Amino acid sequence: MTTTQTPLPWAEAIWGAGIGFRNVFYATLGTGIGSGIVFDRRIYHGRTGSAAEGGHVSIDYNGPRCGCGKRGCIEALCSGPAIAQRARERLTKSKTPSRLRELAGGTLENLTAEHVAEAFREGDALAREVLEATADLLTVWVGNIIDFLEPDVIVFGGGIARLRANSSPHANRVAKVGNQCALLRNPNAASEIRFRRRNSRRRRSLPGGSHRATQHGAQNRA
Ligand SMILES: [Zn+2]
Repeated sequence: MTTTQTPLPWAEAIWGAGIGFRNVFYATLGTGIGSGIVFDRRIYHGRTGSAAEGGHVSIDYNGPRCGCGKRGCIEALCSGPAIAQRARERLTKSKTPSRLRELAGGTLENLTAEHVAEAFREGDALAREVLEATADLLTVWVGNIIDFLEPDVIVFGGGIARLRANSSPHANRVAKVGNQCALLRNPNAASEIRFRRRNSRRRRSLPGGSHRATQHGAQNRA
């Protein structure tokens, strides 16, 4: 977010899907990972306007180097290019047949996150592994965000968010947030934090409390 203006898509997302909520965390998951914070119904900019760089919150100081110079930023792990790179690495190590090799046209450098999504929809096992690994990393990050901000709602936008919402096994992994987030294990803290997709009336609610979080964990392992 900039200090001078709020880009229209972000405003739509924040005041659209996040409308009516006092505290909102918005994340756009795509070629990069951007974020915005509405705190007490106002966009939070920070001292110089550089706040809410959620994409550059690291979850692994030994992780891949991000464009910002740090290691293990969620953008370096879960953006579209990061998903494609994860698929390339697995294909290089694996001899298992995968639709991804065909979609890449024989050159792994050509592989994109869209190819991974397409292969997943066609039932490709390796594409599923790649997306599940990505979802697991995202849940760690979202758990950190919830612990830190305890927003009323988290709004996801961008191509990766659409992909997750459209694939139920992948979407179910978001339930792991309950096990990654200290706040939600505290039954006296957040009772319910909503998840919404940009431009969507559907909503996912994440029940809080240790009992419900444990239930979700058990379902996820099943
Ligand atoms: Zn970074």
